[in-house]
Amino acid sequence: AKGDGRGVHRFYAEEMLAGAKHRQQLEDDLRTALGAGDFHLCYQPVVGTADARIVGYEALVRWEHPVRGLVSPADFVPVAEECGLIEALGEWVLRTACEEAARWPGSVRVAVNVSPVQFANPQLPGIVASALAHAGLAPDRLELEITEGVFLNDSTATDQMFRALKGLGVRLALDDFGTGYSSLGYLRSAPFDKIKIDQSFVRGIAQPGNRNAAIIKAIVTLAETLGMETTAEGVEVQDEIDLVRELGCSHIQGYVYGRPTRAEHIAGRLDGGELH
Ligand code: C2E
Ligand code: CA
Ligand code: CA
Ligand code: CA
Repeated sequence: AKGDGRGVHRFYAEEMLAGAKHRQQLEDDLRTALGAGDFHLCYQPVVGTADARIVGYEALVRWEHPVRGLVSPADFVPVAEECGLIEALGEWVLRTACEEAARWPGSVRVAVNVSPVQFANPQLPGIVASALAHAGLAPDRLELEITEGVFLNDSTATDQMFRALKGLGVRLALDDFGTGYSSLGYLRSAPFDKIKIDQSFVRGIAQPGNRNAAIIKAIVTLAETLGMETTAEGVEVQDEIDLVRELGCSHIQGYVYGRPTRAEHIAGRLDGGELH
């Protein structure tokens, strides 16, 4: 079966499923894709709870693989982090998001995911400053989304990074809150502007007896006390909008207000600024 082209391909596909080879292939393909420009960004609206207006968009990277089609960032970001390619990919994401956001109406923000690997690089503030300057984007229109993985790095360096980024005037959000080791200690000192409540707390919230509402309420109270905004992530239906609004979340993000879409499709939505 290995003799003809089709046989070779199938044999290879089976090997790819086996693990290490798959990973190596993914890594090689990622490197090629960076050179070839096979990435683009999609943007998902973030909506203010009070007036249902779009306050900004989160940039989410997409990889159009020539053979495999669209590959999920959940699959390739961890690989890019392990092999160091996240530095180049993350810089491309930052520059592209700033450039595209600079074309939006003045108050609309863009949120960019920053890997803990990027966050550990002392050059990050310079990279961010250069992306802002090159795009002509005001710093307060850029929000960097960070996960608690950054707190596994050296704590002095982490503190310095927070100060350097805040010094640039960008906003900082703590992403996926509630999913990791849980960050009450981190919240004490880290200068976050916003906590993003992970979508696992929104799932099932409308079902009777579900305890997620109590948890969201507690996070919102904590965030308000610390002067931070809250975004409920992964809101899919109207019932969930009603509930997270009642619980006091200041912002909502999820399929109910829009799936991630390419930059060219969102300009029209921004003209009115209003969703309802
Ligand atoms: P995340 O930062 O938590 O992003 C939110 C994810 O939830 C996105 O998946 C988004 O499409 C999805 N989502 C949004 N609303 C809903 C909803 O109502 N229901 C459901 N079920 N899902 C919803 P996506 O785009 O596949 O990204 C997955 C993860 O990959 C992101 O999670 C983030 O951790 C990472 N990622 C994406 N883009 C980048 C990037 O540019 N840099 C880095 N370092 N990581 C990225
Ligand atoms: Ca995020
Ligand atoms: Ca998240
Ligand atoms: Ca996530």
